Amino acid sequence: MQFDRLLADGRRWHLRLSHEALTVALGSDRVYTLDHSGRLVGAFRAGCHLRRGLDGRVLARWREDRGPRQRRWLDEAECEQLLAEWRADLARLAAEPWPDEVAALLRAGLDFDYAADVERFHAVYRPVAILPPDQYQALVLQATEGCSFNTCTFCALYRHVRFHIKSVAEFAHHIRAVKAFFGPGIRLRRSIFLADANALVIPQERLLALLAEVEAAFAIMPADLAPERRRAWLETHPDGVAGLYAFIDGLSAERKTVADFMALRSHGLRRVYIGLESGHEPLLAWLRKPATAAEMLEAVHHLKAAGLHVGVIVLTGIGGSRFDAGHRRDTAAVLSAMPLDGEDLIYFSPFQPDPDAPYEALAAAAGIEPPDPALAAAQEAAIRQGITLPPPPRGPRRAPYNLRDFVY
Ligand code: SF4
Repeated sequence: MQFDRLLADGRRWHLRLSHEALTVALGSDRVYTLDHSGRLVGAFRAGCHLRRGLDGRVLARWREDRGPRQRRWLDEAECEQLLAEWRADLARLAAEPWPDEVAALLRAGLDFDYAADVERFHAVYRPVAILPPDQYQALVLQATEGCSFNTCTFCALYRHVRFHIKSVAEFAHHIRAVKAFFGPGIRLRRSIFLADANALVIPQERLLALLAEVEAAFAIMPADLAPERRRAWLETHPDGVAGLYAFIDGLSAERKTVADFMALRSHGLRRVYIGLESGHEPLLAWLRKPATAAEMLEAVHHLKAAGLHVGVIVLTGIGGSRFDAGHRRDTAAVLSAMPLDGEDLIYFSPFQPDPDAPYEALAAAAGIEPPDPALAAAQEAAIRQGITLPPPPRGPRRAPYNLRDFVY
């Protein structure tokens, strides 16, 4: 449903109501998106993209003169100002006559209590630390909390979270709480991400019991549904999701068989993301990754043999010039040896040190220089060049993955 309206104040508004969201545009430089609960999730203002997280924070992203993308979090006053301006625009809009569905959503937007929503979000979720870029809009279900390893020297995402696997009863309660939290806004979330860091570490039998809870709460789109029928399927299944997605670490992947992965696929798992980081074994050992590149290569073979799609994540700029040549050479070689096709992804993530992680101190002690964006860019270019897999659509899509873009 789309509407173009000249309002009483002389301004032209364009509204687009879809199965997932309502988009409201005032000219081309002021756009808002709200979910079906009336919750503001994003905006575009004067050349700047604003993404509002469920925790109430807002990330602004923009480019100046086609330069590199800039980012910053709005401060509290700026977040309040955004909501105040949105409410003022919304009040003008809601005063007009609209079809019932649009009018109800505009009213829900006006009545939306953002402070209460943030509180409820924190009651339902432990912090959602990171997702792969193609899953930023997923519905997160935390089957586990934290990371079962927490050894990697460059990562502090879960350093302060005690690893925990939810019981079936806890997980069922979590799913109910998540559904209640999102309300009708859940329609914006078209897949499920089984969190946290490596939910597939859960022993197979227990994992299947947890997936049974997911299947009881959601309809999962059949894996073999033709692409042109997927949208219609989602629109006709109110509790429908395109599938399940999750991270896996190399060691956990080693502990599951191809038959295990096939069983997970039959219960809705579609793509698994693995942090290869590098194909260079000395660098992985120095970073204290839980698995070797050879093990992660084998894991990808198993995942693909089970009919799953894979997202492989490579870190660039890590390990400085000491590991540079080996990182470029071996990462391109390991990626080239993976049976990746057009449904798979290779992500390049420029390393950004986290002060809570031991990397910086260890690097300084080892005489390794701090991360250099130019080195990261050069490594990405060299690895892309060195990959012998076919380009898309036959081969995997290569895409950037900047952790600083993540908002949930
Ligand atoms: S990189 Fe992955 S496996 Fe390593 S500590 Fe972080 S979340 Fe855990």
